[in-house]
Formats: sequence, C-alpha cells, structure tokens
Amino acid sequence: MQAAVELSAIPTVAAQLGRVGSRFLEAISVYRGDITRLAVDAIVNAADTAVLGGGGVDGAIHRAAGPGLLAECRGLGGCATGQAKLTAGYGLPARHVIHAVGPVGEQPELLASAYRASLNVARDAGLRSVAFPCISTGVFGYPPDAAASVAVNTVRAWLDANPAAVDRVVFCVFNDRSARIYASLLLHSPQN
Ligand code: ADP
Repeated sequence: MQAAVELSAIPTVAAQLGRVGSRFLEAISVYRGDITRLAVDAIVNAADTAVLGGGGVDGAIHRAAGPGLLAECRGLGGCATGQAKLTAGYGLPARHVIHAVGPVGEQPELLASAYRASLNVARDAGLRSVAFPCISTGVFGYPPDAAASVAVNTVRAWLDANPAAVDRVVFCVFNDRSARIYASLLLHSPQN
C-alpha cells in the first residue's frame, strides 16, 4: 500500500489563496490524487445502487480496503440514487467509507442529494473530515464541469446550514480535466 496522506498535509483553499475570514474556503480543499490514500474520517465512494463494488473509484476503494468492506456492503441492502450509507474503512487509511449513489447522466437534484446525504451521514456519525471523488463523472456520464458546480454549490450550502458540523471537506480530483475545473471554480475565481 502507498503511504497515507494526512489531512494536515492538504492545504485548505483559504490557505492556498492566503485568504482568511471565509468559513467556506477555510473548510474546503482540492486534492489531486488517489482518494484511497487519504487519512480522513471518511472517504466517499461513488457507488451504484447495489453497493457491491464495481469499476472506477469504487473498484479502487474495494481493492484498497480489502474483503471486509464487501462483506459489510452485502448487509447494506443496496442504496437508492441520491442517498448514502456508512461502512467502516477496513484496510484504508480512512476510518470510514460513505457509499453515495449519484445519478446516471445529468440530473442535478439527484447529484446534489448524493452530496447532501453523504454530509448528513458524516454529521450524524460525528465524522469531522470527508473527502469526495467527482461523483457520477466517470461511467455514470455526468458532464464534469456541470457536476463540479453542483458539488461545490451543494457543499457550500450544506456547510452554511450546518455550521461546525464538519471541519474539513476535500474535493479529490483524479484527472486533468477535473483538476482544471475545480481549480478554476475555487482557486482562480474563488466563491467566498
Ligand atoms: P461514477 O460511476 O459515479 O461515474 P467513476 O468511478 O466511474 O464513478 O468515476 C467517478 C470519478 O472518480 C471520475 O472522475 C474518476 O476519474 C474518479 N476516480 C477514479 N479512480 C479514482 C481514485 N482512485 N481516486 C479518486 N478519484 C477516482
């Protein structure tokens, strides 16, 4: 297994921009790399409704977590689109996995719901740091720029509505295109 990446090694957007006073920018980060390496309270898995593993980030998470994860997932009874369910992290450096099901194709309400449901699960379990992949932007075919806007706006609104419920939210980007999109949304013309 590759070395874990501690949260303390991931700067917030506020720190990157040298900006103080924005609770939103002080809570969020953009991290480029493999979500399975992040030592956060919970990583979010872009699962499907069966929640039994699959390709893309789902496959990577199951490989890194080991067979205990699939065994627990078998007991979840599936998960509806737009919802999320919690498991332990097993062999991952993250303590938990939040399995969220995004929509197939561009359905903004269901994508926003998947982000909100994940944060609700984290809050209700007392988890303080959460890392998201770009849900639905792989085989589920959501246009990545539209998906990023939904992700950022939804997380921002949730943090406003749930002050101090979660300390840190990491947007984990894995490819050039997503990296450019999140940089342009948050680092070049930050919403504060
Ligand atoms: P979905 O079925 O929700 O579209 P995918 O796993 O196909 O899920 O893709 C979602 C996103 O996860 C894509 O942007 C893809 O590049 C990204 N991804 C794939 N592997 C990883 C990983 N190990 N860490 C973080 N993101 C990843």
